[in-house]
Amino acid sequence: MERRKSRVIKLGNKFLGYGNDILIQSMTYTKTEDKEATLSQILALEEAGCDIVRFSVPNENCLDSIPYLKENTHIPLVADIHFDYRLALGAAERGIDKIRINPGNIGSEEKVKAVADICKSKNIPIRIGVNGGSLEKHILEKHGRPTPEALCESAMYHANLLEKFDFYDIVISIKSSDVATTIKANRMLAEMCDYPLHLGVTEAGTERTGLIKSSAGIGALLCEGIGDTLRVSLSDDVIKEVEAAKDLLRVLGIRQGVKVISCPTCSRCNIDVFSVAKKVENAFKNTDADLKIAVMGCAVNGPGEAREADIGIAGGNGEALLFKKGQIIGKIPMENIFDVLMKETEKLISDCTQH
Ligand code: SF4
Repeated sequence: MERRKSRVIKLGNKFLGYGNDILIQSMTYTKTEDKEATLSQILALEEAGCDIVRFSVPNENCLDSIPYLKENTHIPLVADIHFDYRLALGAAERGIDKIRINPGNIGSEEKVKAVADICKSKNIPIRIGVNGGSLEKHILEKHGRPTPEALCESAMYHANLLEKFDFYDIVISIKSSDVATTIKANRMLAEMCDYPLHLGVTEAGTERTGLIKSSAGIGALLCEGIGDTLRVSLSDDVIKEVEAAKDLLRVLGIRQGVKVISCPTCSRCNIDVFSVAKKVENAFKNTDADLKIAVMGCAVNGPGEAREADIGIAGGNGEALLFKKGQIIGKIPMENIFDVLMKETEKLISDCTQH
């Protein structure tokens, strides 16, 4: 897959854009005024593998939290601001790493210029975040509904406002709760500019629906080389957003990590595939080693179906076969399947890291 050659933007201690990692984002849902609660959620997100955290700044009290959060966290922080340009100025003055604002929503050109000027002087990028549900009236009237064309027109309208003041450290996101619209709009936008793109399906829904919609929408774009950062948006625990994003990048081969291949089982199955596969996946979910582990129910098709795996097991008669690179190397008694597979995998990971 050839990646789109997007502009590179510095964002706190990270770089965003072509040639850099595709960064995982999430957003806190604590009250930003509550410094301790917000800090602990950001630290939990960091721990889970989040690269960038956004929080909303709906009022001046929230601004006071910014220096404290900056001081005690280690990844770029983004202030999400709507309408009030003074909050954007305040966030920039207090050391925020990025601002999400739609320049067309904050009033006169002088106000847009004031935000662009302070961000430029402090090397703070701005994300323009266009959502299907909050399109400008004049654009909505022209297109009748939030079509991909309307979303792109809105994004470029906001980008042009910033460009007018010589500001180009721009990241753009175009999100719709409709997967097909999100995909089409981002494809179009990717052709219209070279700004890095933040991907997401907005208001994607609860855990199950949100995961499916995000995987379909974000996944399709990533497979085409589009996207520099992403958020899997869920009506659920923020940590799940990060875990899902990591898994998505991993299954697409964009990030390294352990991949577990497991069969759906059938009447030939001789072992508890479901539980062993889940336990193995959980045990290695934060391991960076690029390894495939297979958990297969039987020896008839097991080793063959998992030929590509680095290590795996296939259920046998009262035991499991242990294989590496498709070759059977031993037998494991039924009660020790998980422990032996864990031990052998750890050995393999340690060999990989030593060489
Ligand atoms: Fe069935 Fe064996 Fe295939 Fe699993 S590996 S689905 S148990 S045939």
